[in-house]
Amino acid sequence: MTVRLRGHHLLCMLTFVGEGYTPAFTANYRRLAERLSAGEEIEIVSGPDDICAPLLPEGLPHCLSRSAVARDETAAEEIGRLLRIPIGEGTKIVPDEKLLRSNFKAGTIRRACEECEWSELCGHVAGNGFKDALVGAR
Ligand code: SF4
Repeated sequence: MTVRLRGHHLLCMLTFVGEGYTPAFTANYRRLAERLSAGEEIEIVSGPDDICAPLLPEGLPHCLSRSAVARDETAAEEIGRLLRIPIGEGTKIVPDEKLLRSNFKAGTIRRACEECEWSELCGHVAGNGFKDALVGAR
């Protein structure tokens, strides 16, 4: 099995602390967090992914928006540069979370976070050393 993630969710998974758009969204995200924490492989997809899935029946346009797609591209570019691999649709990876987190905290892979409504929360999670984050072994 793989967890299907869009590009910018490689960032979002680092700071997920159980908050989100709807109860169904966060319940699903918690299950995915467990799978990611267990080391399950990630497959990069284009557009809505396993995290977005519960929002789609509710007709929320966010997951299909141009800004979300732009975020995917920016995150894939920055993370790909960091990991020295091209990241795009079909890429399969188990990323080094520590490396991603240290760079997230340093701000070197956070261009995709610009103007995101969750940016303050995610900055706070990073500032606290990700101690409340649900993805990853601690
Ligand atoms: S600020 Fe937005 S895009 Fe960045 S990690 Fe948080 S939720 Fe994801």
